[in-house]
Amino acid sequence: MNRPSPTLRTHVLVIGAGIGGLASAVRLAQAGYRVTLAERHDVPGGRAGVWRSEGFTFDTGPSLVMMLECWHDLFQSAGRRLEDYVSLVQCDPAYRLHFTDGSTFEMTSSMNRLVDNVERLEPGAGARVSEWLAETGRLYHGGLRFIRRNMHNPLAMMDIRALGPGAGATALGDLQRLARRHFRDERLQQAITFQTLYLGISPYRSPGVYGLLAHAEMAGGIHYPMGGMHQLPLALERLGAELGVEYLYDTEITGLERDAGRITAARTADGRRLTADLFVANSDLPWTYQALLGEKTPTLLEPSFSCSVVLLYLGVNRRYPQLLHHNLAVTSDLRDSCAALFQRREMPDEPPFYLVASTRTDPGQAPPGCENLFVLVLAPSQDPRRPLDWSTLGPQVEARTIERLERFGLTDIRRHIVTRNLVTPDTFTQRYGNLRGEAFGLDHGLSQIGYFRPHNRHRRHKNLYFVGQSTHPGCGLPMVLISAECLAERVRRDVPA
Ligand SMILES: Cc1cc2nc3c(=O)[nH]c(=O)nc-3n(C[C@H](O)[C@H](O)[C@H](O)COP(=O)(O)OP(=O)(O)OC[C@H]3O[C@@H](n4cnc5c(N)ncnc54)[C@H](O)[C@@H]3O)c2cc1C
Repeated sequence: MNRPSPTLRTHVLVIGAGIGGLASAVRLAQAGYRVTLAERHDVPGGRAGVWRSEGFTFDTGPSLVMMLECWHDLFQSAGRRLEDYVSLVQCDPAYRLHFTDGSTFEMTSSMNRLVDNVERLEPGAGARVSEWLAETGRLYHGGLRFIRRNMHNPLAMMDIRALGPGAGATALGDLQRLARRHFRDERLQQAITFQTLYLGISPYRSPGVYGLLAHAEMAGGIHYPMGGMHQLPLALERLGAELGVEYLYDTEITGLERDAGRITAARTADGRRLTADLFVANSDLPWTYQALLGEKTPTLLEPSFSCSVVLLYLGVNRRYPQLLHHNLAVTSDLRDSCAALFQRREMPDEPPFYLVASTRTDPGQAPPGCENLFVLVLAPSQDPRRPLDWSTLGPQVEARTIERLERFGLTDIRRHIVTRNLVTPDTFTQRYGNLRGEAFGLDHGLSQIGYFRPHNRHRRHKNLYFVGQSTHPGCGLPMVLISAECLAERVRRDVPA
């Protein structure tokens, strides 16, 4: 590999200001590299964007901050304190699950209330909460040690001992079996396994290791940044600017020039050539391979994609005080809905939906007396053999969801909508390049995690790196922060700053 002149700093061009791109820019700038970041949109954040209308503010994607330690680590790595950039508050209860039989379950980090809530659904099971936490705690801490390493060497994947004694078999076993070992009530089993949907995979076809997600919620809690989730990318952007990162917004990369096994320049939509020593693609990985390199995504089998979502942003001129900040309606036939979403790639009749009313914590997100409702309905990603026509299906799902919201208790909501916006899988393709309209990147089955997930450096173009949800370790804000940590470590090992 060519070494840059010792008198010059190695120049890195990061493509994309998603959380992965922003965090990589921070880590690389802090390590002494000269960093330029090119983003096609006019704001940072990618999926963690913002939509404002009629005095309402909506987070466009993520709504739950989990695993706060990943955020603290990043700021500490730059000698800063997260609290000086963003004001995070804990939402407790984290959320309320609504079951079709009318019963509910509140997830909380308060141990005595958690035990009470579990007892209410399954008398006698409260005593088993601590066993569940202990077992999933081992998965969580071992899992973090395991994924916080670069995985381009198959031996790293084999070293399952990093998970800790006895946890390997549980991690690779079946998630539902793990849940059944602790709780008999199906609602509780759903309450501690549905979190795999955050990764866009079915809780009925997930390895046990994902039990760590419920652990992260119970033990670490769910947080929210005052001012909205978009404060997180803004905080990263500010930190990067302090470290010297140069931001180029409205700059879409449309091609990569190659010469002798290296990337030499990125071409922009407006005809510029951006040169650098190293390139880091935070643009969606399968899209980057297909559109910028003309190559197939390097997965073990045919690439398999996570599911998608239909999102409704509804500004309403009344309050629904019965809602918590986070609410989830679980359908009685969750297993069936998952089979439709993940196997048959069809829109289920009554998919689970998730409803966020961030004014509970942050009243400034809507005008006085109003609510900014964010509704997430799970949807399939596209099957290229039978693509769904979202131009007609999207409005149908929207209408059906509004009916369901009224049945759910949001009386007369349709009469109170002041502003609205509909996002379908097509939006994910148009806005982020997702080849199948998937919302959460490549899926996280055993054949696409660890060593088997596309690596964070191109096999042949050794100055082209990847960061974000479709490379190691995967989807979700904390995972993407870890992806930036792994990337920076690898770059530092390859080429000095
Ligand atoms: C609806 C939804 C809800 C979610 N909820 C949560 C949650 O509650 N908690 C959680 O932790 N995670 C959640 N996630 C997951 C999380 O949001 C993502 O995993 C994470 O934001 C992905 O970050 P990224 O950096 O990989 O990519 P992205 O956010 O996709 O960023 C990629 C960036 O690259 C830019 N780009 C693409 N192509 C180009 C190009 N050619 N030139 C220049 N720039 C380009 C894009 O514009 C974008 O800004 C959610 C995701 C979705 C979709």
